[in-house]
Amino acid sequence: AAKSRGRGNFQFFSNDMNAATHERLLLESRLWQALEQQEFELYLQPQVDLPSGALIGAEALVRWHHPELGTVGPDRFIPIAEESGLILPLGEWALRRAVALLERWRGIGLGHLRLAVNLSARQCHGDALLGQLDELLATSGIDPALLELEITETAAMQDPELSRALLQQLRARGIRVAIDDFGTGYSSLSYLKLFELDRIKIDRGFVKDIETDPDDAVIVGATIGLAHSLGLGVIAEGVETAAQAEFLRGKLCDEAQGYLFARPMCVDEFERTASAALGGPRRVNGG
Ligand code: C2E
Ligand code: MG
Ligand code: MG
Ligand code: MG
Repeated sequence: AAKSRGRGNFQFFSNDMNAATHERLLLESRLWQALEQQEFELYLQPQVDLPSGALIGAEALVRWHHPELGTVGPDRFIPIAEESGLILPLGEWALRRAVALLERWRGIGLGHLRLAVNLSARQCHGDALLGQLDELLATSGIDPALLELEITETAAMQDPELSRALLQQLRARGIRVAIDDFGTGYSSLSYLKLFELDRIKIDRGFVKDIETDPDDAVIVGATIGLAHSLGLGVIAEGVETAAQAEFLRGKLCDEAQGYLFARPMCVDEFERTASAALGGPRRVNGG
């Protein structure tokens, strides 16, 4: 019995590993082709002005339509893309796509909307990003202030000096910079001083428990106050309930993003939503 249990346990463990390894291999083996095969898509999640509820823009979140696994979220493949280096062409693709969308929106009456794009650590610390952005800004007619780049604390702190220089260069071009997942790193306060920023994005982990955990409520309230006194804007991510939105509104948080307002959606749906919010679709030819 011991022997068979032993073997059973081994079997179970081994199947488990196989499942994880199998998925990883399945993802990894197609990752490089995926860009060429146009299997990636940007989903857009609305961001709203908290006092008024007005739509002010979106965050671009990449999805992978994998031929065998279906739609795969970034948490499953971004780490693999980071490791393999594919994150560099993927990140460039996301920027191009985002700028093309901003350009398109100018022509369909949605030119007031901002778009935020996530940057990976490798993009921030490589030497191609600024050149890509300069080319995109030179060849498109977009207002750079409508483009926001999100960088996580963790990515920024991998090389603080390099990040500081990059963020300065971005802001010199009029591009907005936001710190993503604010509060999850270990040195959040120090880089408020170190980096030139436009705003911070309070991590979902703090927002989740603001109604039930007095500590989180205090931290979020104080963070908003601190950011404002430093001249920074604040957006809260992961807002799921009306009570959370109410709390944040009471603390004068500027903007919010989360399932309460909308889930990430495809570009078509976002454009329809945004046009409807203006009181009906506006067409390029005015017809
Ligand atoms: P993030 O930038 O912090 O994005 C927010 C994540 O929270 C998104 O997950 C979004 O779908 C999810 N979310 C939004 N509202 C709610 C809510 O109310 N409740 C809950 N439970 N979740 C909510 P997603 O799309 O799976 O993206 C995960 C992460 O993948 C992102 O976290 C970002 O770090 C990364 N990522 C996504 N797209 C890109 C990209 O183009 N480039 C890079 N480098 N990273 C990306
Ligand atoms: Mg983000
Ligand atoms: Mg975030
Ligand atoms: Mg987060």
